[in-house]
Amino acid sequence: MRELSTTCCIAGGGPAGMMLGYLLARQGVDVMVLEKHEDFFRDFRGDTVHPSTLQAFDEMGLLEGYLKRPFQKTDRLAVEIEGETVPLADFRHLPVAAPFIAMMPQWEFLDHLANAGREMDEFHLMMSAKAERYTEEAGRVTGLDVSTPDGPVRIKADLVVGADGRGSALRAQSGLLVKDLGAPIDVFWFRLPRSSGEAAESLGRVSADGMMVMINRGDYWQCALPFPKGADDEIRAQGLPALRERIKRMAPELASTVDALASWDDLKLLTVQVNRLDLWWRTGLLFIGDAAHAMSPVGGVGVNLAVQDAIAAARILGRSLREGALTDGDLASVQKRREWPTKVTQSAQVFAHDFVLVPAITAKRKIRMPLFLRLFKWVPLLRRLPARAVGMGVRPEHWDTQLDRN
Ligand SMILES: Cc1cc2nc3c(=O)[nH]c(=O)nc-3n(C[C@H](O)[C@H](O)[C@H](O)COP(=O)(O)OP(=O)(O)OC[C@H]3O[C@@H](n4cnc5c(N)ncnc54)[C@H](O)[C@@H]3O)c2cc1C
Repeated sequence: MRELSTTCCIAGGGPAGMMLGYLLARQGVDVMVLEKHEDFFRDFRGDTVHPSTLQAFDEMGLLEGYLKRPFQKTDRLAVEIEGETVPLADFRHLPVAAPFIAMMPQWEFLDHLANAGREMDEFHLMMSAKAERYTEEAGRVTGLDVSTPDGPVRIKADLVVGADGRGSALRAQSGLLVKDLGAPIDVFWFRLPRSSGEAAESLGRVSADGMMVMINRGDYWQCALPFPKGADDEIRAQGLPALRERIKRMAPELASTVDALASWDDLKLLTVQVNRLDLWWRTGLLFIGDAAHAMSPVGGVGVNLAVQDAIAAARILGRSLREGALTDGDLASVQKRREWPTKVTQSAQVFAHDFVLVPAITAKRKIRMPLFLRLFKWVPLLRRLPARAVGMGVRPEHWDTQLDRN
């Protein structure tokens, strides 16, 4: 078996792993990021980059180049109940460099970080490299066994980071306790063509037919259709024509384009999970992002939480890693810093599942606009509150360029 060594070996080239790798390299830490796929191209899997993440990009000097890539700007969100629209969130007043959600395919985000990373000698990215298991000596995690097209590789590292997403193999190997908060919904994602004459605003629609979220992606709508957990077989059994009719009733302007849903392959099922690790680390091993806490799609915060974990971890661990002085206390500090925002965000998502989504998708009758939502129509200042909660989240992390060595 080929042997390599590095200071920090990160399993998973998603938002969490790439951001952590990039920021550690900036601090002069030798880092190896392993991604099991040969490229970053995958279908929609969280394209929302929130103002808090854009602000961190700005602090890193990455924002200008990032926003040169193609994206759609979402600076307001609305909800439509039985045809009546209420503006719900207005991001334009947030005190940040980019007060909007940038809708950009995740591969652009990852590619941007990869390009910035490649400018530093300490940053190594291995594509088509799958972390199979971590290695251990005397109760300490010491590296990873990795499979690559050129054969197996053993990578020795002072720290292994599991940023391998919600299906994390390293998390399963660790046996660390996962607390499952339960999720009563699953979601079908699909896209439908959008013509330039159509309304531009992204919105959630609620009616007797259930709920559908439509996100403006320029020449198409990215749509999400939540339904009670496990009911996908029932929806499939009713047939695609019935689903298309339901979509038409919910969004009449899609009547001429809904036939683009030609087969069930055009719909992607997201099995929603909300869970988190009790303990995010063991000696020599740390979990961040979805591997530490799978998030519901509510609020579109998964990418942003993963990035915030990475920024905090890089800030807390950079110096210890560079000086070869990493302690369990450092790893515990990362969990301490990020567990509270995770808990608060997940509690809000569970509340939204139980008191907003489930009532909306199971009512099967006309729903009246609640009075508190009408208030958003009449008092524009109120729209700043959801904008702050969704756009900045709980405890947004910042980058301090004084930490940089590169
Ligand atoms: C259909 C869908 C829609 C979503 N919508 C949104 C949204 O609108 N907004 C939002 O913020 N979030 C959304 N999410 C969630 C979001 O994608 C995740 O929260 C976010 O990507 C988490 O980042 P991460 O880096 O922790 O994990 P991931 O993005 O899952 O990245 C993990 C990476 O590790 C790689 N990997 C896995 N195992 C190994 C291994 N053994 N060795 C090497 N590499 C490995 C994977 O290929 C992947 O690239 C959505 C998710 C899905 C599936």
